[in-house]
Amino acid sequence: MTRSLLLGLIGEGISASRTPRMHEDEGAAHDLTTIYRTIDIGEESLASVPLNELLASAVRLGFDGLNITHPFKQQVIELLDEVDLVARRIGSVNTVVIDEAGRTTGHNTDATGFARGFEAGLGGAARNRVVQIGAGGAGRAVAFALSELGVGELTIADISAERAQDLAAEIGDHVRAISTSDLEPAITSADGVVNATPVGMAAFPGTPFDTSLLDTQTWVADVVYFPLETQLLAEAKAKGCRTLDGSGMAVNQAIDAFELFSGRRADP
Ligand code: NAD
Repeated sequence: MTRSLLLGLIGEGISASRTPRMHEDEGAAHDLTTIYRTIDIGEESLASVPLNELLASAVRLGFDGLNITHPFKQQVIELLDEVDLVARRIGSVNTVVIDEAGRTTGHNTDATGFARGFEAGLGGAARNRVVQIGAGGAGRAVAFALSELGVGELTIADISAERAQDLAAEIGDHVRAISTSDLEPAITSADGVVNATPVGMAAFPGTPFDTSLLDTQTWVADVVYFPLETQLLAEAKAKGCRTLDGSGMAVNQAIDAFELFSGRRADP
C-alpha cells in the first residue's frame, strides 16, 4: 500500500495556490507522507521549459500525480498516455495520475467538483432554466456538470461567440448559445445563473452581467474563489438571492483528485 505521495501542480501564477496545502493536510490525515510542489511556469527558471519536458521530468522524478491548471488544461491532453472519457468529453484535464511504470492518465475533477459543490450548497434549487456565462476551461466543466445535474435548458454566453456555440453544440439539444448582448431576457427568466468567467477576480473587477436583472428567486453561483465573495455574489445576496461561491468546486475537485492519487477518500 502507498506510504508516501509526491505530487505537483503545473501552471502559471500559482505561487499563492492553496492546493498544495489541501493535499499535504489530507495526506497527513491518512498517514501518508505527502510532498506537493508547485511548478510555476511564471518563474524565470521555468519560463522557457515546454510542457512536455515538465511532464517527462515529473515522471522521471517519480511523481505519483500532478494537478494541471491554467494555461495547460487543454494542451496537456495530447501528451498523456490515456485520458478518461469525462475529461475527453470536456476537452480538459486538471488531474494526471502517474502509475509505477510511468504511464500517465488524465482526468477532470472540476466537473465532479462543481456538481458536488452545487448539491451541497444549492441542493434542491430549481434548475429548469439556467444561464451560464463563460465557456472557457472552467466553463466547459461546469456546463457538463450542469447537464449531469439535470438542468432542463442551459443557455451559454461568452464574449467569444464561437466558444459558446462550440460548447453548446457539443453538449446536446437542451443547450443553446446566445450573444452576451442577449443576456437580459435569458437572465430575467432563469432559475439560476452561473458565472464561469474570471470577472470578479481582482484582475477582472466588476460583474459579468447587470445584477439589477436578478429576481430574488434566482440563485447565483460563481466559480471564482479568489475572492470568495465576488461583487456578483455580494450584489445577489443583497437582493436576497441564494448564492454559491467557488469554494465548493475548489475543495471537491481536490478531494476527487486526492482519491485518484492515493486511492483514499478525503472528508469534505
Ligand atoms: P478561461 O480563460 O479558460 O475562460 C474564461 C472564459 O470567460 C473565456 O471563454 C472568456 O472569453 C470568457 N469571458 C471573460 N470575460 C467575459 C465576460 N465579461 N462575459 C462573457 N464571457 C467572458 O478561464 P478559466 O480557466 O475557465 O477560469 C475562469 C475562472 O474560473 C477563473 O476565475 C478561475 O480561477 C476559476 N476557476 C475556479 C475553479 C474552482 O475550483 N472554483 C476551477 C477552475 C477555474
